Order: sequence, then structure tokens, then C-alpha cells
Amino acid sequence: MGKATQIAKRSGCFLNKALVLVLVVFQMVTGALAQDSSELVVSQLGDLPVVISAPHGGNLEIPGVPPREGEGLDAGPAGFRVVRDGGTEELALEVARQLAERMKGRPSFVISRVHRRYVDFNRPPEIAVEHARARVVYDQYHTAVADAVRTIREKHMFGLLIDIHGQGSSAETVYRGTSNGLTMSGLRKQYGEEFHVGENSLLALLKKRNWKVHPDPFDGKEQAGFTGGHIVRAYGSHRSDGIDAIQLELGGNYRKTAVRERIAREMADAIAEYIERVRKASEKKADQALLQLKKE
Ligand SMILES: [Zn+2]
Repeated sequence: MGKATQIAKRSGCFLNKALVLVLVVFQMVTGALAQDSSELVVSQLGDLPVVISAPHGGNLEIPGVPPREGEGLDAGPAGFRVVRDGGTEELALEVARQLAERMKGRPSFVISRVHRRYVDFNRPPEIAVEHARARVVYDQYHTAVADAVRTIREKHMFGLLIDIHGQGSSAETVYRGTSNGLTMSGLRKQYGEEFHVGENSLLALLKKRNWKVHPDPFDGKEQAGFTGGHIVRAYGSHRSDGIDAIQLELGGNYRKTAVRERIAREMADAIAEYIERVRKASEKKADQALLQLKKE
């Protein structure tokens, strides 16, 4: 439902309805807002220290926007791409649902429903969009992620952004992308490499659930082409206003409808366990600091 319709529903007043109609017509004429853009990105601002992002799973068009052509753009791994990550829209929603159940709270999420042909949320704007209406949707996605990251920073000691993707190189593999640890700088500095590449890392907790992860050993180099894109680099903890961010590139075996519920449960369990371990480490650190203060 559009904002204008929501306002109209809330107020029974004819004058307001007339005003809303004028606004809607104005929007149609000016094209200032993408039609139905509220349905093209689904998001929730939650209270848990997690943001789930899934920018490439959508299959919808943006009304009135032609497919991107990418003229003059590089088509390499970080360049112009239009292939969607099938199954990730639905999987991300299910992960968010299971996280809510498992952690007894509300995770934040930002999930695209629009096809990558029209907008690529995991690229900087100059590569991501070729039409003003697509830019509106692009900004909607990034505003939602930025809001979630800011809220987590205000409320929690630690926060994690998981950016969910799909890859076609290896059906049984899940690749970690953190720009080789850059987007996890904050956590590594605060709690040590153990939480990035050791037994307390997210990869270790996924492997424990029989996922085939890469890199393995976890301190190996990340696979070229899957080292993490614009989203983890824009919101990662190497930035003063970011949180720890991991891109996960899932093979086809993790994105099939038949296994969705199990995969989402395993991912949600691993994320919840990871956050719990970091929380314990942070408590321990606070206790030690207090003890040190008492000694001095
Ligand atoms: Zn992707």
C-alpha cells in the first residue's frame, strides 16, 4: 500500500481524500516517486543486533523503467551485472523469521524484490542505476540499511550485517566476503582474530552445521570475485559509523525451495550462537576491565 493510500484510509475526511488524490495525480505527472516503490524493497527496523540484507534475489520490474544496459561499464566481478541470485529473497525472509523465533526479538532486514536488471543495490550509484525512478528505489534500500546500522550502533555493543547472495561457481560451497577481514575490523580489534577466523567465527559455526565454507582454513585468502561488494564495504566496521559485516555467497544447494527452511534455520542458529559468543566475550572483557580498575 502506498503512503498516500494509508493516509486516506486513516482519515475518513473527504477533504483529506481529495488532497491525497491531488498528491497522487501530482506524483504520477511528475514521476517524482517510483510507482509502488514501497513493494520493491521490504524492510524492518528491529531491536536485535543483526541486519539481514539480500539485494539480488528479486524478480519484479520497476514500472516505467527500462532494463539497464551498462554501456561503457566494466563487466568484471565488481562491475555491471544483471544476473539475479535466485532464491535469496525468500531465504533471507525465512532467516529473519527464524532469527526472530530463535533470539526472541526482531532482526532488522532489507530485502529487494526488484530484478537486478533494473537496479543493483550492491554497487555504487554510478554503476547501480540508469533511471531516476530506479535511483529512488536504490536510495530506499540504502536508507533502510543505514537506519538499521545506526540503530544497532546506538543500542548495542556489537552488531552484525549479513549480506546474502548466490553464486553459480560451486553448488555446495558458501563463500565468505569481508575484503579479507577489512569489513570485520572492529570485531577483530576488540575481541581478536578468533572471532573472524578461529573456532568462534561465523564460518566455524556454519561448518559445524555441515556447510562447506570457503576459505577453509578460515584464515586463508577469500575467493577472488567473492571478497565482498559495495554493501559490506559501505557499512562494515572499518568505517567509523559501521558495524561488522559479512557477505555470504551461497551455492545452488543452499537456495533450493526444498531445503529453504532447514538452511534458514541453520543460518539463524549459527548467527544467534555467534552473537551469543561475542556477547559473552564482551562481558568477560568488561569484568576484567573492572577488576583492573579495582586493583589500581
Ligand atoms: Zn549477488
